[in-house]
Amino acid sequence: MIVLGIETSCDETGVGVVRAEPGGAVTLLANEVASSVDEHARFGGVVPEVASRAHLQAMVPAVHRALATAGVTGRDVDAVAVTAGPGLTGALLVGVAAAKAYAAAWDVPLYGVNHLAAHVAVDTLQHGPLPPCLALLVSGGHSSLLDVPDIAGPVTPLGATIDDAAGEAFDKVARLLGLPFPGGPHIDRVARDGDRAAVAFPRGLTGPRDAPFDFSFSGLKTAVARHVEALERAGTTMPVADVAASFQEAVVDVLTAKAVRAARERGMDTLLLGGGVAANSRLREMAQERCAAAGVRLRVPRPGLCTDNGAMVAALGAHLVAAGAAPSSPELPADSSLPITEVLV
Ligand code: ATP
Ligand code: MG
Ligand code: FE
Repeated sequence: MIVLGIETSCDETGVGVVRAEPGGAVTLLANEVASSVDEHARFGGVVPEVASRAHLQAMVPAVHRALATAGVTGRDVDAVAVTAGPGLTGALLVGVAAAKAYAAAWDVPLYGVNHLAAHVAVDTLQHGPLPPCLALLVSGGHSSLLDVPDIAGPVTPLGATIDDAAGEAFDKVARLLGLPFPGGPHIDRVARDGDRAAVAFPRGLTGPRDAPFDFSFSGLKTAVARHVEALERAGTTMPVADVAASFQEAVVDVLTAKAVRAARERGMDTLLLGGGVAANSRLREMAQERCAAAGVRLRVPRPGLCTDNGAMVAALGAHLVAAGAAPSSPELPADSSLPITEVLV
């Protein structure tokens, strides 16, 4: 069974093709990603109208490339999955309209799926069927701890950010440090030469009375801004690597401590990292160390599968088909604020 997945929730036009094997495994056949990130860089953030137009231009060529790479034709596709939300409305609409058209043309069922659940499901392409797990989802717009008993079923949110998402904090701090957009990968790179202990930045919501599984990154971002301002006032050369490394350490410390604690408290022996920030090398390293110390198994997809792509949507679609889920209506709407509890629309 071949499933084609379409992702257009933000600035990546992603088209993936997977094959669902009889035993429940899902094999990656193609993962084409065309990003409009360069068109947004000079604005310091994604411009929705620019993203939507770029999706329109990139969509059909990306589908053709993905089918060719997978070595299949449209006639071989058994189901089409698409990100129905959350994301930018105009961007989502391009993907949903394309998916409806392909599903109708090929006369196959359509599955409108949750982008965040797809960030979790993608790991099965690399590491095989997923046992019940605790998932730390950290991306440009979300930071959540999720109890995931079954990837094709409902998930239970245990906590989330009360202000900025982790990726948003990376991007805003990168801007303060004069690094290009999107800043996460740049902070990751420059922090390698920095001293993680150079600045003791605050660890948000880690007090004894704070919600154990919620996150807050806006105080940290403000602390970095104050620190940068003080250095500028003093006329000191900005120690970019040290500030980046210290900021990154503060984010990663809180994320991994809360995720491992949640896994233990919920009796889960597997922790999964997903979303664009899961590509971060220090997050992956610290999660590995803390999981090993706590006796928790860690699953993290390779960096290219962590950031937005179509294969993650195809993977979740394949698991839903295998679980016998009813397809979406041909009238499937795009829902910019689709809650994580709705895996299939
Ligand atoms: P959401 O999934 O919440 O809708 P999104 O789809 O825009 O948001 P993703 O593509 O999942 O986000 O992730 C993008 C985010 O990941 C950006 O904020 C980016 O800076 C961050 N990111 C990517 N690579 C890294 C890295 N190596 N280190 C830290 N952050 C990173
Ligand atoms: Mg992006
Ligand atoms: Fe995403």
